[in-house]
Amino acid sequence: MSGAAPIAWQCVTQCRACGGALTVMFCDLGAQPLANAYVNPQSAPESDQRLPLRALVCDACQLVQLDTIADAGAIFVDYAYLSSVSESWVRHAADFCRQAQAQMNPDFVVELASNDGYLLQHFRADGVRCLGVEPAANVAEIARARGIDTIVRFFGVEAARDIARDHGQAGLIVANNVLAHVPDVNDFVAGIAVLLAPGGHVSIECPTVLELARQAQFDTIYHEHYAYWSLHALEKFLGRHGLAVVDAQPLPTHGGSMRVTVRHARDTSGPMPGLVSMRQSEAEAGISAPAFYAGFGPRVSAILDETRAFLTQRHARGDVIVAYGAAAKGNTFLNALGEAASTIACVGDANPLKAGKLLPGTRLPIVTPQQMAARKPDVVLLLAWNLATEIDSVLAGLGLAGRQMATAVPCLVLREIGA
Ligand SMILES: [Zn+2]
Repeated sequence: MSGAAPIAWQCVTQCRACGGALTVMFCDLGAQPLANAYVNPQSAPESDQRLPLRALVCDACQLVQLDTIADAGAIFVDYAYLSSVSESWVRHAADFCRQAQAQMNPDFVVELASNDGYLLQHFRADGVRCLGVEPAANVAEIARARGIDTIVRFFGVEAARDIARDHGQAGLIVANNVLAHVPDVNDFVAGIAVLLAPGGHVSIECPTVLELARQAQFDTIYHEHYAYWSLHALEKFLGRHGLAVVDAQPLPTHGGSMRVTVRHARDTSGPMPGLVSMRQSEAEAGISAPAFYAGFGPRVSAILDETRAFLTQRHARGDVIVAYGAAAKGNTFLNALGEAASTIACVGDANPLKAGKLLPGTRLPIVTPQQMAARKPDVVLLLAWNLATEIDSVLAGLGLAGRQMATAVPCLVLREIGA
């Protein structure tokens, strides 16, 4: 995807979920390259294509979403993100598997965007029949090598019918951190309604716009994330597809997510206490009012200004600055910094598919954690702030204890590594 062919994209003015008007600006991050378009130094074009990156709010359902739609094929064909690289994420999946089997006892589990099999491997180990659906062929191949039956395609009504015909309907459908990535979200959720067995459950995890706004997590906004869901917007949306949320719980993952349990509307009884409580938190925050979304943009500008000043000052006094975590949100952040990103020597990442490549836009080199540590950095700017505890011990293990780790979201914080 770092090749020369330009990425097709378009601007929209209507809500992808309900067709309402997108009028209120939530956050404008300027023109940015695709955040996952890692650049191969051997075949790098002169510059990376940039598309507008801004999120707006739907007047009718309050779904926060991008008004730029980049071609999904360009985004996912050579997707370099491997879920299993994060140990805490694999543990999270194992816990879910145990809980789901105790509460739902599914006979057939389908995971949408099953990645490298990080989650289904736990069901498989317990002898539960499962199937992964993963659009990125290189990632699906890793899952298959683990013995997890995986089909390579985008999910929607057509895929759902094919799966139901060939494998039967699913007692449990898992859709973790995928809803935001789906360009045609109506087709995707209609497909879930087709594939879900009567009496079955759907478990959806996604970051919440409530935490995004509260913690100023603007760097989770990038072209691959078309929409930023609240429970409020999600319930309205699922209802139009004959599905209903029956339970909800907040999760600490990705800086603040929700896990919602969904069933066919005809299978539901009253809302569980977790759902009542999350509805109340959102209502108290004013999630349905435009005022909730106003003021986010200026807060983002303030964070960027503070970080630019810090990096420029430390660089000027001769400190070695590196960054850690070459994930998509790091790219949003670094590209939003502009010129100040050039104070960073390199970006360390544990994913072997990324080392040796360059970050899109900033063209900073991605190196292994060991190579990064060999630079003896004075400051490690942690881009993957959601994994701070895990990465702190990684950095200490690399001999960087006592040096400084900086996180910039929601505000600039410096701490001593390994303290
Ligand atoms: Zn809408």
